[in-house]
Amino acid sequence: MLIKTSPEEIENFLTDASNTRGFCDAVYFPESKEDIADILRKANKEKISVTVSGNHTGLTGAAVPHGGIVISTEKLNKILEINTDEEFAVVQPGVILADFLKEIKSKNYLYPPDPTEDNCFIGGTVATNASGAKTFKYGPTRNYIEELEIILADGNILNLSRGMQEADGLSMKLKTEKGKKIFLEIPDFKMPHTKNASGYFCKKNMDAIDLFIGSEGTLGVITKIKLKIIPAPEKLISCVVFFNDENCALGFLQKARELSYQTRQIHQANAIDALALEYFDERALRFLSKDFRQVPPDANAAIWFEQETTKESDDTILELWMNLISEFNGNEESAWFSLTENDKKNIKEFRHAISWKINEYMAGKGFRKLGTDVAVPPEKFEELYLYSKNVVTKNSLKFVNYGHFGDAHMHLNILPETEEQFELGKKIYSEICSKAIKLGGTVSAEHGIGKNKTKYLLEMYGEENIRKMAELKRRLDPNLILGIGNIFDEKILSA
Ligand SMILES: Cc1cc2nc3c(=O)[nH]c(=O)nc-3n(C[C@H](O)[C@H](O)[C@H](O)COP(=O)(O)OP(=O)(O)OC[C@H]3O[C@@H](n4cnc5c(N)ncnc54)[C@H](O)[C@@H]3O)c2cc1C
Repeated sequence: MLIKTSPEEIENFLTDASNTRGFCDAVYFPESKEDIADILRKANKEKISVTVSGNHTGLTGAAVPHGGIVISTEKLNKILEINTDEEFAVVQPGVILADFLKEIKSKNYLYPPDPTEDNCFIGGTVATNASGAKTFKYGPTRNYIEELEIILADGNILNLSRGMQEADGLSMKLKTEKGKKIFLEIPDFKMPHTKNASGYFCKKNMDAIDLFIGSEGTLGVITKIKLKIIPAPEKLISCVVFFNDENCALGFLQKARELSYQTRQIHQANAIDALALEYFDERALRFLSKDFRQVPPDANAAIWFEQETTKESDDTILELWMNLISEFNGNEESAWFSLTENDKKNIKEFRHAISWKINEYMAGKGFRKLGTDVAVPPEKFEELYLYSKNVVTKNSLKFVNYGHFGDAHMHLNILPETEEQFELGKKIYSEICSKAIKLGGTVSAEHGIGKNKTKYLLEMYGEENIRKMAELKRRLDPNLILGIGNIFDEKILSA
């Protein structure tokens, strides 16, 4: 097995897309689950800290090591099976999401939960319960995971299948391949009724597989994933519509969201049912206008919507969307429809570009990303949006706001110019998280907690619940070697 130790060779493993930096002694490149079990057995015996790494596109420092060793999953990169008859696929964790999507597209299939960054590994998306634009209709990664093979901290192998290992109330019993029994007590706290990737999934009678989805490399190394795939839509309407007035854009979004919910509830045919509802504020558009000539100079907001259609329903549904655009004074002339495969790719790139351009800006200034990942119940979203806009404006901070607004999920990114502004930005960031919590929301809807958001998770669930969550980890990883610094502050773990 390849092991790298020289500073130049391991440099890439010491940071992620949030520009968080770390350090480690070595990076291991296992080629099988047996390799991983061996590494973990040794590390567990010697109490060496182990950080699991996907393709380090994470935005919270979760794959960034604080000492010890890194296990890279990049050599576990095989698509093992694609079964279109039974609509599932089996993959190793290091498969690049974009490669997988391409492969199933060629078979006319779709895997819906693709985060905007498709250069990530599928293992990374499972470990963070990632979501994307299509989550508005199809939900997060969790909804697509059927089976997981996991190597625990002591090298034992755990196989989990959805529906096969459910908790009895709050008591969960796990059995490893070799028959070792592990008993867990699930904490009884309420998770928010929003998209959520904050801390462990904990619920009465929960499925054991859900504990590991979103566990950010703290409970085991995922070595095999069986996931659901669905038939690709016959046709797709995809459009970025520009507005001169932000309030009109937000009104459009709210109505499209309500209509979509209504359509799904009553199973209405030929009606508005958005697949994606993504928002860009004025500042985000200015950021993008240099590279995308489609942005009109007077646009103050934009919404990217998508809906699946068929040959029969396409015209009717398009007309419904055009009526909605007109009702909210959207700019019909500049509306950017994807008429070709190339347009589709460009619109996707438009959405992707706003995220990576901000990461690039922050890295260029030498700052860590200061981007919210908060979501609240939809009826509270307007309050969160206005509060956040007001607090950053009042403090004269540069920012852009965009995100998965269909899911009431907002990425407000603060763009400091100086160290002083960065410190102020951290304070404001924290205030926005507190507001989201007060509104019944989450501090992380999709990126996870990693090392950078532990104090907001603590505020969200309270110390008693976080200690109970940490106890779950201690049962599965008694020597505390896996993903140390992620989800919990180290002081809570060792207390
Ligand atoms: C431009 C940009 C846009 C983005 N947009 C979105 C978005 O819309 N939605 C979204 O959800 N995310 C988004 N992200 C974040 C990112 O792509 C996801 O967090 C991704 O899911 C992480 O995948 P990765 O392979 O890079 O994992 P890494 O960053 O390497 O690791 C992430 C976490 O997963 C753990 N991990 C990785 N592999 C395993 C494994 N096999 N077993 C156990 N633990 C493991 C790591 O230890 C770490 O805790 C974006 C990122 C960028 C750069």
